Amino acid sequence: MNSIQNYINGEFVSSKNDECIDNFNPATNEKIATIPRSSSQDIQNAVDACNLSKSSWSKLSITERAEWLDKIADELEKRFEEISKLESIDTGKPISLSRNVDATRSVNNFRFFADLARNMENKKFEMKDAINNIVNKPVGIAGLITPWNLPLYLLSWKVAPALVMGNCIIAKPSELTPITANLLAEVIHKLGLPKGVFNLIHGYGNECGQALVSHPEINLISFTGGTKTGKIVAKTAAPMFKKISLELGGKNATIILKDADLNSHIDNIVRSSFLNQGQVCLCGSRILVHESIYSSFLELFKQSVSSMKIGDPLDENTQLGSLISNEHLEKVDNYVKLAIEEGGEILYGGQRPNFNNNFAEGAFYEPTIIVGLDYKSRTATEEIFGPVVTIHKFNEIEEAIQIANSTNYGLAASIWTQDATLGGDIAEKLDTGMVWINCWLHRDLRVPFGGVKNSGLGREGGLYSLNFFSELQNICTMND
Ligand code: NAD
Repeated sequence: MNSIQNYINGEFVSSKNDECIDNFNPATNEKIATIPRSSSQDIQNAVDACNLSKSSWSKLSITERAEWLDKIADELEKRFEEISKLESIDTGKPISLSRNVDATRSVNNFRFFADLARNMENKKFEMKDAINNIVNKPVGIAGLITPWNLPLYLLSWKVAPALVMGNCIIAKPSELTPITANLLAEVIHKLGLPKGVFNLIHGYGNECGQALVSHPEINLISFTGGTKTGKIVAKTAAPMFKKISLELGGKNATIILKDADLNSHIDNIVRSSFLNQGQVCLCGSRILVHESIYSSFLELFKQSVSSMKIGDPLDENTQLGSLISNEHLEKVDNYVKLAIEEGGEILYGGQRPNFNNNFAEGAFYEPTIIVGLDYKSRTATEEIFGPVVTIHKFNEIEEAIQIANSTNYGLAASIWTQDATLGGDIAEKLDTGMVWINCWLHRDLRVPFGGVKNSGLGREGGLYSLNFFSELQNICTMND
Protein backbone atom coordinates (compact mmCIF):
# COMPACT_ATOMS: atom_id res chain seq x y z
CA MET A 1 0.00 0.00 0.00
CA ASN A 2 1.18 3.42 -0.98
CA SER A 3 1.31 6.25 1.56
CA ILE A 4 1.14 9.32 -0.66
CA GLN A 5 2.21 12.75 0.59
CA ASN A 6 1.85 16.33 -0.54
CA TYR A 7 4.73 17.86 -2.48
CA ILE A 8 5.50 21.38 -1.24
CA ASN A 9 8.65 23.45 -1.76
CA GLY A 10 10.55 20.49 -3.18
CA GLU A 11 9.71 18.11 -0.32
CA PHE A 12 7.23 15.28 0.20
CA VAL A 13 5.31 16.16 3.38
CA SER A 14 2.22 15.06 5.31
CA SER A 15 -0.71 17.41 5.73
CA LYS A 16 -0.47 19.75 8.73
CA ASN A 17 -3.38 17.99 10.46
CA ASP A 18 -1.84 14.52 9.77
CA GLU A 19 -5.24 13.22 8.62
CA CYS A 20 -5.55 10.81 5.70
CA ILE A 21 -8.10 9.70 3.10
CA ASP A 22 -8.21 6.11 1.82
CA ASN A 23 -7.84 5.45 -1.89
CA PHE A 24 -9.33 2.33 -3.55
CA ASN A 25 -8.91 0.27 -6.68
CA PRO A 26 -12.50 0.50 -7.97
CA ALA A 27 -12.28 -2.79 -9.87
CA THR A 28 -11.61 -4.81 -6.71
CA ASN A 29 -12.66 -2.38 -3.98
CA GLU A 30 -9.24 -2.94 -2.35
CA LYS A 31 -7.53 -0.12 -0.49
CA ILE A 32 -4.39 0.78 -2.43
CA ALA A 33 -3.18 4.06 -0.95
CA THR A 34 -3.76 6.82 1.54
CA ILE A 35 -3.49 10.52 0.73
CA PRO A 36 -3.26 13.55 3.02
CA ARG A 37 -6.54 15.21 3.89
CA SER A 38 -5.11 18.67 3.32
CA SER A 39 -6.59 21.93 4.51
CA SER A 40 -6.08 25.66 4.05
CA GLN A 41 -2.84 25.46 6.11
CA ASP A 42 -1.25 23.21 3.47
CA ILE A 43 -2.46 25.51 0.69
CA GLN A 44 -0.87 28.42 2.58
CA ASN A 45 2.46 26.54 2.75
CA ALA A 46 2.29 25.91 -0.98
CA VAL A 47 1.52 29.60 -1.64
CA ASP A 48 4.53 30.57 0.51
CA ALA A 49 6.70 28.18 -1.54
CA CYS A 50 5.44 29.71 -4.81
CA ASN A 51 6.11 33.21 -3.52
CA LEU A 52 9.73 32.30 -2.76
CA SER A 53 10.38 30.84 -6.21
CA LYS A 54 8.17 32.76 -8.62
CA SER A 55 10.56 35.61 -9.32
CA SER A 56 13.49 33.39 -10.38
CA TRP A 57 11.26 30.99 -12.35
CA SER A 58 9.57 33.81 -14.25
CA LYS A 59 12.98 35.29 -15.16
CA LEU A 60 14.08 32.17 -17.06
CA SER A 61 13.62 32.39 -20.81
CA ILE A 62 10.82 30.43 -22.46
CA THR A 63 13.50 28.26 -24.08
CA GLU A 64 14.96 27.39 -20.68
CA ARG A 65 11.55 26.54 -19.27
CA ALA A 66 10.68 24.50 -22.39
CA GLU A 67 13.82 22.41 -21.73
CA TRP A 68 12.37 21.49 -18.34
CA LEU A 69 9.17 20.32 -20.05
CA ASP A 70 11.19 18.14 -22.42
CA LYS A 71 13.08 16.62 -19.50
CA ILE A 72 9.79 15.86 -17.73
CA ALA A 73 8.43 14.25 -20.93
CA ASP A 74 11.54 12.08 -21.29
CA GLU A 75 11.31 10.91 -17.69
CA LEU A 76 7.57 10.19 -17.96
CA GLU A 77 8.25 8.23 -21.13
CA LYS A 78 10.75 6.05 -19.26
CA ARG A 79 7.97 5.26 -16.78
CA PHE A 80 5.33 4.75 -19.51
CA GLU A 81 4.38 1.21 -18.56
CA GLU A 82 4.27 2.06 -14.86
CA ILE A 83 2.00 5.06 -15.54
CA SER A 84 -0.32 2.89 -17.65
CA LYS A 85 -0.59 0.25 -14.96
CA LEU A 86 -1.06 2.70 -12.09
CA GLU A 87 -3.72 4.61 -14.02
CA SER A 88 -5.62 1.37 -14.67
CA ILE A 89 -5.42 0.32 -11.03
CA ASP A 90 -6.47 3.73 -9.73
CA THR A 91 -9.35 4.33 -12.17
CA GLY A 92 -10.48 0.83 -13.23
CA LYS A 93 -9.94 1.63 -16.91
CA PRO A 94 -8.62 -0.96 -19.39
CA ILE A 95 -4.83 -1.08 -19.63
CA SER A 96 -4.99 -0.67 -23.43
CA LEU A 97 -6.73 2.67 -22.91
CA SER A 98 -4.26 3.75 -20.22
CA ARG A 99 -1.43 3.07 -22.63
CA ASN A 100 -2.92 4.50 -25.82
CA VAL A 101 -4.58 7.52 -24.31
CA ASP A 102 -3.50 8.39 -20.76
CA ALA A 103 0.21 7.59 -20.75
CA THR A 104 0.75 8.59 -24.38
CA ARG A 105 -0.97 11.95 -24.05
CA SER A 106 0.71 12.79 -20.75
CA VAL A 107 4.12 12.55 -22.44
CA ASN A 108 2.86 14.32 -25.58
CA ASN A 109 1.37 17.22 -23.62
CA PHE A 110 4.78 18.18 -22.21
CA ARG A 111 6.56 17.83 -25.59
CA PHE A 112 3.80 19.66 -27.45
CA PHE A 113 3.74 22.70 -25.17
CA ALA A 114 7.56 22.83 -25.04
CA ASP A 115 7.69 23.05 -28.86
CA LEU A 116 4.78 25.44 -29.15
CA ALA A 117 6.16 27.88 -26.58
CA ARG A 118 9.67 27.77 -28.07
CA ASN A 119 8.28 28.70 -31.46
CA MET A 120 5.77 31.27 -30.24
CA GLU A 121 6.27 34.68 -31.81
CA ASN A 122 5.15 37.77 -29.99
CA LYS A 123 2.61 39.70 -32.05
CA LYS A 124 3.43 43.18 -33.33
CA PHE A 125 0.99 45.74 -34.75
CA GLU A 126 2.58 48.60 -36.67
CA MET A 127 0.98 52.03 -36.89
CA LYS A 128 2.10 54.94 -39.08
CA ASP A 129 3.94 56.55 -36.19
CA ALA A 130 4.38 53.81 -33.58
CA ILE A 131 4.71 50.09 -32.99
CA ASN A 132 2.73 47.88 -30.57
CA ASN A 133 4.57 44.90 -29.13
CA ILE A 134 2.50 42.33 -27.29
CA VAL A 135 4.31 40.36 -24.62
CA ASN A 136 3.14 37.32 -22.66
CA LYS A 137 4.01 37.71 -18.99
CA PRO A 138 3.49 35.06 -16.28
CA VAL A 139 0.25 35.42 -14.32
CA GLY A 140 1.83 34.40 -10.99
CA ILE A 141 0.49 31.44 -9.01
CA ALA A 142 -1.72 29.01 -10.91
CA GLY A 143 -4.21 26.74 -9.11
CA LEU A 144 -4.93 23.62 -11.17
CA ILE A 145 -7.86 21.36 -10.26
CA THR A 146 -8.49 18.11 -12.11
CA PRO A 147 -11.04 15.25 -12.15
CA TRP A 148 -10.67 11.46 -11.97
CA ASN A 149 -11.50 10.28 -15.46
CA LEU A 150 -8.17 11.08 -17.18
CA PRO A 151 -5.94 11.84 -14.20
CA LEU A 152 -2.41 12.46 -15.49
CA TYR A 153 -3.58 13.33 -19.02
CA LEU A 154 -5.66 16.27 -17.80
CA LEU A 155 -3.16 17.34 -15.15
CA SER A 156 -0.29 17.45 -17.67
CA TRP A 157 -2.55 19.39 -20.09
CA LYS A 158 -2.56 22.20 -17.49
CA VAL A 159 0.86 21.79 -15.82
CA ALA A 160 2.84 22.00 -19.09
CA PRO A 161 1.46 25.34 -20.39
CA ALA A 162 1.35 26.85 -16.89
CA LEU A 163 5.02 26.03 -16.25
CA VAL A 164 6.34 27.05 -19.64
CA MET A 165 4.65 30.46 -19.40
CA GLY A 166 6.53 31.11 -16.15
CA ASN A 167 3.92 30.48 -13.47
CA CYS A 168 4.35 28.58 -10.21
CA ILE A 169 1.81 25.84 -9.66
CA ILE A 170 -0.36 24.42 -6.94
CA ALA A 171 -2.11 21.35 -8.34
CA LYS A 172 -5.00 19.51 -6.70
CA PRO A 173 -5.87 16.19 -8.35
CA SER A 174 -9.06 14.29 -7.66
CA GLU A 175 -9.05 12.58 -4.27
CA LEU A 176 -10.25 9.45 -6.12
CA THR A 177 -7.20 9.20 -8.41
CA PRO A 178 -4.09 10.68 -6.77
CA ILE A 179 -1.47 8.12 -7.81
CA THR A 180 -0.13 9.35 -11.15
CA ALA A 181 -0.14 12.98 -9.94
CA ASN A 182 2.20 11.74 -7.21
CA LEU A 183 4.30 10.02 -9.88
CA LEU A 184 4.59 13.36 -11.68
CA ALA A 185 5.80 14.95 -8.42
CA GLU A 186 8.39 12.15 -8.12
CA VAL A 187 9.58 12.84 -11.66
CA ILE A 188 9.82 16.57 -11.03
CA HIS A 189 11.65 15.95 -7.74
CA LYS A 190 14.13 13.58 -9.37
CA LEU A 191 14.85 16.08 -12.14
CA GLY A 192 15.46 18.85 -9.60
CA LEU A 193 13.00 21.44 -10.91
CA PRO A 194 13.60 24.54 -8.73
CA LYS A 195 11.86 24.15 -5.35
CA GLY A 196 8.43 25.67 -5.01
CA VAL A 197 7.71 25.90 -8.74
CA PHE A 198 5.49 22.80 -8.74
CA ASN A 199 3.47 21.95 -5.63
CA LEU A 200 0.92 19.17 -5.28
CA ILE A 201 -1.78 19.13 -2.61
CA HIS A 202 -4.10 16.18 -2.04
CA GLY A 203 -7.46 16.19 -0.33
CA TYR A 204 -11.18 16.74 -0.64
CA GLY A 205 -12.53 19.30 -3.08
CA ASN A 206 -14.71 21.14 -0.59
CA GLU A 207 -11.76 21.45 1.81
CA CYS A 208 -8.39 22.00 0.15
CA GLY A 209 -9.91 22.56 -3.33
CA GLN A 210 -12.09 25.35 -1.95
CA ALA A 211 -9.12 26.77 0.01
CA LEU A 212 -7.11 26.84 -3.22
CA VAL A 213 -9.81 28.66 -5.18
CA SER A 214 -10.44 31.21 -2.43
CA HIS A 215 -6.79 32.01 -1.58
CA PRO A 216 -6.25 35.69 -2.46
CA GLU A 217 -2.67 35.19 -3.65
CA ILE A 218 -3.54 32.53 -6.22
CA ASN A 219 -4.06 34.52 -9.42
CA LEU A 220 -5.48 31.93 -11.78
CA ILE A 221 -7.72 28.88 -11.53
CA SER A 222 -7.85 26.25 -14.25
CA PHE A 223 -10.63 23.82 -13.36
CA THR A 224 -11.82 20.65 -15.07
CA GLY A 225 -14.70 18.79 -13.45
CA GLY A 226 -18.45 18.74 -13.01
CA THR A 227 -20.75 21.66 -13.81
CA LYS A 228 -22.06 21.85 -10.24
CA THR A 229 -18.53 22.21 -8.86
CA GLY A 230 -17.66 24.63 -11.66
CA LYS A 231 -20.43 26.94 -10.45
CA ILE A 232 -18.96 26.96 -6.92
CA VAL A 233 -15.49 27.63 -8.31
CA ALA A 234 -16.77 30.50 -10.48
CA LYS A 235 -18.76 31.99 -7.60
CA THR A 236 -15.68 32.00 -5.38
CA ALA A 237 -13.07 33.11 -7.89
CA ALA A 238 -14.97 35.63 -10.04
CA PRO A 239 -15.41 38.35 -7.37
CA MET A 240 -11.66 38.16 -6.73
CA PHE A 241 -11.05 38.81 -10.48
CA LYS A 242 -8.92 35.71 -10.87
CA LYS A 243 -8.37 34.40 -14.36
CA ILE A 244 -10.67 31.37 -14.62
CA SER A 245 -10.99 28.56 -17.12
CA LEU A 246 -13.79 26.03 -16.61
CA GLU A 247 -13.96 22.74 -18.51
CA LEU A 248 -17.21 21.15 -17.36
CA GLY A 249 -19.75 18.44 -18.10
CA GLY A 250 -21.49 17.46 -21.31
CA LYS A 251 -24.47 15.61 -22.78
CA ASN A 252 -23.15 15.25 -26.28
CA ALA A 253 -25.22 14.33 -29.32
CA THR A 254 -24.14 11.76 -31.91
CA ILE A 255 -26.10 12.62 -35.07
CA ILE A 256 -26.44 9.84 -37.62
CA LEU A 257 -27.80 10.99 -40.97
CA LYS A 258 -29.59 8.65 -43.38
CA ASP A 259 -26.57 8.40 -45.71
CA ALA A 260 -24.10 7.49 -42.93
CA ASP A 261 -21.77 4.64 -43.81
CA LEU A 262 -22.70 2.56 -40.78
CA ASN A 263 -20.56 -0.46 -41.59
CA SER A 264 -17.42 1.68 -41.75
CA HIS A 265 -18.22 3.80 -38.71
CA ILE A 266 -20.02 1.55 -36.26
CA ASP A 267 -16.86 0.75 -34.25
CA ASN A 268 -16.12 4.45 -33.86
CA ILE A 269 -19.72 5.21 -32.86
CA VAL A 270 -19.55 2.49 -30.20
CA ARG A 271 -16.19 3.87 -29.06
CA SER A 272 -17.67 7.39 -28.84
CA SER A 273 -20.44 6.02 -26.63
CA PHE A 274 -18.51 3.79 -24.25
CA LEU A 275 -14.82 4.76 -24.16
CA ASN A 276 -13.59 4.67 -20.56
CA GLN A 277 -16.99 3.19 -19.59
CA GLY A 278 -18.64 6.37 -20.92
CA GLN A 279 -16.63 8.43 -18.45
CA VAL A 280 -15.17 10.88 -20.96
CA CYS A 281 -16.72 14.35 -21.01
CA LEU A 282 -16.85 14.08 -24.83
CA CYS A 283 -18.67 10.74 -25.04
CA GLY A 284 -21.83 10.84 -27.14
CA SER A 285 -24.57 9.85 -24.72
CA ARG A 286 -27.55 10.83 -26.92
CA ILE A 287 -27.61 9.12 -30.29
CA LEU A 288 -29.95 10.76 -32.79
CA VAL A 289 -30.68 8.50 -35.76
CA HIS A 290 -32.59 9.23 -38.97
CA GLU A 291 -35.80 7.23 -38.87
CA SER A 292 -35.13 5.54 -42.24
CA ILE A 293 -32.10 3.71 -40.80
CA TYR A 294 -33.24 3.50 -37.17
CA SER A 295 -33.94 -0.26 -37.11
CA SER A 296 -30.81 -1.24 -39.00
CA PHE A 297 -28.72 1.04 -36.78
CA LEU A 298 -30.18 -0.45 -33.58
CA GLU A 299 -29.42 -3.95 -34.75
CA LEU A 300 -25.83 -3.18 -35.73
CA PHE A 301 -25.14 -1.07 -32.65
CA LYS A 302 -26.57 -3.65 -30.25
CA GLN A 303 -24.61 -6.44 -31.91
CA SER A 304 -21.39 -4.47 -31.64
CA VAL A 305 -21.98 -3.40 -28.02
CA SER A 306 -22.88 -6.92 -26.93
CA SER A 307 -19.52 -8.20 -28.16
CA MET A 308 -17.52 -5.82 -25.92
CA LYS A 309 -15.33 -7.59 -23.39
CA ILE A 310 -15.93 -6.35 -19.84
CA GLY A 311 -13.74 -7.33 -16.89
CA ASP A 312 -10.18 -7.25 -15.55
CA PRO A 313 -8.76 -3.80 -16.36
CA LEU A 314 -5.24 -5.26 -16.55
CA ASP A 315 -6.20 -7.83 -19.19
CA GLU A 316 -4.95 -6.70 -22.61
CA ASN A 317 -8.22 -7.73 -24.28
CA THR A 318 -10.57 -5.90 -21.93
CA GLN A 319 -12.60 -3.15 -23.58
CA LEU A 320 -14.69 -2.06 -20.59
CA GLY A 321 -13.27 -1.84 -17.09
CA SER A 322 -14.94 -0.68 -13.89
CA LEU A 323 -16.51 2.69 -13.15
CA ILE A 324 -14.65 5.00 -10.79
CA SER A 325 -16.47 3.86 -7.63
CA ASN A 326 -19.48 1.96 -6.35
CA GLU A 327 -20.96 5.29 -5.32
CA HIS A 328 -20.77 6.51 -8.93
CA LEU A 329 -22.17 3.17 -10.11
CA GLU A 330 -25.20 3.72 -7.90
CA LYS A 331 -25.76 7.12 -9.53
CA VAL A 332 -25.55 5.52 -12.98
CA ASP A 333 -27.89 2.69 -11.97
CA ASN A 334 -30.38 5.21 -10.55
CA TYR A 335 -30.48 6.92 -13.94
CA VAL A 336 -31.25 3.58 -15.60
CA LYS A 337 -34.10 3.07 -13.12
CA LEU A 338 -35.28 6.61 -13.84
CA ALA A 339 -35.23 5.85 -17.57
CA ILE A 340 -37.68 2.99 -16.98
CA GLU A 341 -39.92 5.27 -14.91
CA GLU A 342 -39.76 7.81 -17.73
CA GLY A 343 -41.03 5.25 -20.22
CA GLY A 344 -37.72 4.03 -21.65
CA GLU A 345 -36.95 0.47 -22.70
CA ILE A 346 -33.59 -1.14 -21.95
CA LEU A 347 -32.44 -2.59 -25.25
CA TYR A 348 -29.20 -3.90 -23.80
CA GLY A 349 -27.41 -3.92 -20.43
CA GLY A 350 -28.78 -2.08 -17.41
CA GLN A 351 -27.17 -4.42 -14.86
CA ARG A 352 -23.99 -5.14 -12.95
CA PRO A 353 -22.23 -8.12 -14.53
CA ASN A 354 -21.94 -11.16 -12.28
CA PHE A 355 -18.33 -11.84 -11.42
CA ASN A 356 -17.37 -14.64 -9.02
CA ASN A 357 -13.74 -13.59 -8.72
CA ASN A 358 -11.63 -10.68 -7.42
CA PHE A 359 -13.94 -8.33 -9.24
CA ALA A 360 -17.17 -9.33 -7.48
CA GLU A 361 -17.05 -6.12 -5.39
CA GLY A 362 -15.86 -3.95 -8.26
CA ALA A 363 -17.82 -1.07 -9.79
CA PHE A 364 -18.60 -2.80 -13.09
CA TYR A 365 -21.69 -1.94 -15.12
CA GLU A 366 -22.83 -3.32 -18.45
CA PRO A 367 -22.85 -1.02 -21.47
CA THR A 368 -26.46 0.09 -21.58
CA ILE A 369 -28.66 1.10 -24.49
CA ILE A 370 -32.00 2.80 -23.80
CA VAL A 371 -34.65 3.52 -26.43
CA GLY A 372 -38.13 5.00 -26.44
CA LEU A 373 -37.44 8.03 -24.24
CA ASP A 374 -38.64 11.56 -24.88
CA TYR A 375 -35.57 13.61 -25.83
CA LYS A 376 -36.60 16.08 -23.12
CA SER A 377 -36.63 13.42 -20.38
CA ARG A 378 -34.20 13.79 -17.49
CA THR A 379 -32.31 10.66 -18.56
CA ALA A 380 -31.77 12.15 -22.01
CA THR A 381 -30.76 15.64 -20.84
CA GLU A 382 -28.76 15.21 -17.60
CA GLU A 383 -25.13 14.11 -17.57
CA ILE A 384 -24.87 10.49 -16.40
CA PHE A 385 -21.13 10.09 -17.06
CA GLY A 386 -21.30 6.32 -17.35
CA PRO A 387 -21.85 3.53 -19.89
CA VAL A 388 -25.40 4.57 -20.78
CA VAL A 389 -26.71 5.93 -24.07
CA THR A 390 -30.22 6.91 -25.11
CA ILE A 391 -31.24 6.57 -28.76
CA HIS A 392 -33.77 8.88 -30.42
CA LYS A 393 -35.30 9.06 -33.90
CA PHE A 394 -35.52 12.14 -36.08
CA ASN A 395 -36.97 12.85 -39.49
CA GLU A 396 -35.93 16.34 -40.66
CA ILE A 397 -32.37 17.59 -40.17
CA GLU A 398 -33.72 20.70 -38.43
CA GLU A 399 -35.32 18.38 -35.88
CA ALA A 400 -31.96 16.70 -35.18
CA ILE A 401 -30.35 20.12 -34.67
CA GLN A 402 -33.13 21.21 -32.36
CA ILE A 403 -32.85 18.02 -30.26
CA ALA A 404 -29.07 18.30 -30.16
CA ASN A 405 -29.30 21.89 -28.90
CA SER A 406 -32.04 21.16 -26.37
CA THR A 407 -29.91 20.51 -23.26
CA ASN A 408 -28.15 22.97 -20.98
CA TYR A 409 -24.81 21.56 -22.07
CA GLY A 410 -22.75 22.51 -25.12
CA LEU A 411 -19.47 20.64 -25.10
CA ALA A 412 -19.20 18.49 -28.23
CA ALA A 413 -21.10 16.60 -30.92
CA SER A 414 -20.37 14.18 -33.74
CA ILE A 415 -22.08 13.94 -37.14
CA TRP A 416 -21.97 10.85 -39.34
CA THR A 417 -22.73 11.36 -43.05
CA GLN A 418 -21.22 10.85 -46.50
CA ASP A 419 -22.02 14.48 -47.32
CA ALA A 420 -19.20 16.50 -45.74
CA THR A 421 -20.71 19.83 -46.87
CA LEU A 422 -24.02 19.05 -45.22
CA GLY A 423 -22.13 17.82 -42.13
CA GLY A 424 -20.28 21.16 -41.97
CA ASP A 425 -23.53 23.15 -42.32
CA ILE A 426 -25.14 21.19 -39.49
CA ALA A 427 -22.01 21.56 -37.34
CA GLU A 428 -22.21 25.35 -37.50
CA LYS A 429 -25.79 25.24 -36.23
CA LEU A 430 -24.87 23.23 -33.14
CA ASP A 431 -24.37 25.11 -29.86
CA THR A 432 -21.19 23.28 -28.90
CA GLY A 433 -17.51 24.12 -28.66
CA MET A 434 -16.45 21.15 -30.75
CA VAL A 435 -17.90 19.01 -33.54
CA TRP A 436 -16.42 15.93 -35.21
CA ILE A 437 -17.62 14.79 -38.64
CA ASN A 438 -17.14 11.07 -39.37
CA CYS A 439 -14.71 10.77 -36.48
CA TRP A 440 -14.63 11.28 -32.73
CA LEU A 441 -11.95 12.37 -30.27
CA HIS A 442 -9.59 12.93 -33.16
CA ARG A 443 -7.32 15.44 -31.45
CA ASP A 444 -4.93 18.04 -32.79
CA LEU A 445 -3.42 19.68 -29.69
CA ARG A 446 -3.27 23.09 -31.42
CA VAL A 447 -7.05 23.52 -31.72
CA PRO A 448 -9.36 25.19 -29.18
CA PHE A 449 -10.88 22.74 -26.70
CA GLY A 450 -13.87 23.67 -24.54
CA GLY A 451 -17.59 24.11 -24.37
CA VAL A 452 -20.41 26.63 -24.29
CA LYS A 453 -23.47 26.98 -22.03
CA ASN A 454 -23.12 24.84 -18.88
CA SER A 455 -20.13 23.00 -20.35
CA GLY A 456 -17.70 25.72 -19.46
CA LEU A 457 -15.93 28.96 -19.94
CA GLY A 458 -12.82 29.60 -22.03
CA ARG A 459 -10.73 27.35 -24.23
CA GLU A 460 -7.70 25.18 -23.64
CA GLY A 461 -5.27 23.86 -26.26
CA GLY A 462 -2.37 25.28 -28.25
CA LEU A 463 -1.97 29.04 -28.11
CA TYR A 464 -5.30 29.33 -26.26
CA SER A 465 -3.64 27.65 -23.27
CA LEU A 466 -0.43 29.68 -23.58
CA ASN A 467 -2.47 32.91 -23.62
CA PHE A 468 -4.64 31.79 -20.70
CA PHE A 469 -1.57 31.01 -18.61
CA SER A 470 -0.10 34.45 -19.29
CA GLU A 471 -1.00 38.12 -18.98
CA LEU A 472 -0.91 39.88 -22.33
CA GLN A 473 0.74 43.27 -22.12
CA ASN A 474 0.76 45.75 -25.00
CA ILE A 475 3.77 48.08 -25.23
CA CYS A 476 3.20 50.93 -27.68
CA THR A 477 6.41 52.79 -28.65
CA MET A 478 6.36 56.02 -30.67
CA ASN A 479 8.68 56.05 -33.67
CA ASP A 480 11.69 58.41 -33.49
P1 NAD B 1 -15.90 17.08 -9.61
O1 NAD B 1 -16.43 18.41 -10.01
O2 NAD B 1 -16.61 16.33 -8.55
O3 NAD B 1 -14.38 17.19 -9.12
C1 NAD B 1 -13.38 17.76 -9.94
C2 NAD B 1 -12.28 18.29 -9.05
O4 NAD B 1 -12.78 19.38 -8.29
C3 NAD B 1 -11.75 17.27 -8.03
O5 NAD B 1 -10.36 17.44 -7.88
C4 NAD B 1 -12.48 17.69 -6.76
O6 NAD B 1 -11.81 17.32 -5.57
C5 NAD B 1 -12.50 19.20 -6.92
N1 NAD B 1 -13.54 19.91 -6.15
C6 NAD B 1 -14.72 19.44 -5.69
N2 NAD B 1 -15.37 20.41 -5.01
C7 NAD B 1 -14.60 21.52 -5.08
C8 NAD B 1 -14.73 22.85 -4.58
N3 NAD B 1 -15.80 23.24 -3.88
N4 NAD B 1 -13.75 23.73 -4.83
C9 NAD B 1 -12.67 23.35 -5.56
N5 NAD B 1 -12.47 22.11 -6.03
C10 NAD B 1 -13.44 21.21 -5.80
O7 NAD B 1 -15.81 16.23 -10.95
P2 NAD B 1 -15.39 14.72 -11.10
O8 NAD B 1 -16.52 13.87 -10.62
O9 NAD B 1 -14.04 14.53 -10.55
O10 NAD B 1 -15.27 14.60 -12.69
C11 NAD B 1 -16.33 14.31 -13.54
C12 NAD B 1 -16.83 15.57 -14.21
O11 NAD B 1 -15.77 16.21 -14.91
C13 NAD B 1 -17.89 15.27 -15.28
O12 NAD B 1 -18.92 16.20 -15.15
C14 NAD B 1 -17.14 15.47 -16.58
O13 NAD B 1 -17.95 15.81 -17.68
C15 NAD B 1 -16.20 16.57 -16.22
N6 NAD B 1 -15.06 16.62 -17.12
C16 NAD B 1 -15.00 17.64 -18.02
C17 NAD B 1 -13.95 17.69 -18.93
C18 NAD B 1 -13.85 18.81 -19.94
O14 NAD B 1 -12.78 18.97 -20.52
N7 NAD B 1 -14.90 19.56 -20.20
C19 NAD B 1 -12.95 16.71 -18.91
C20 NAD B 1 -13.06 15.68 -17.97
C21 NAD B 1 -14.11 15.64 -17.08
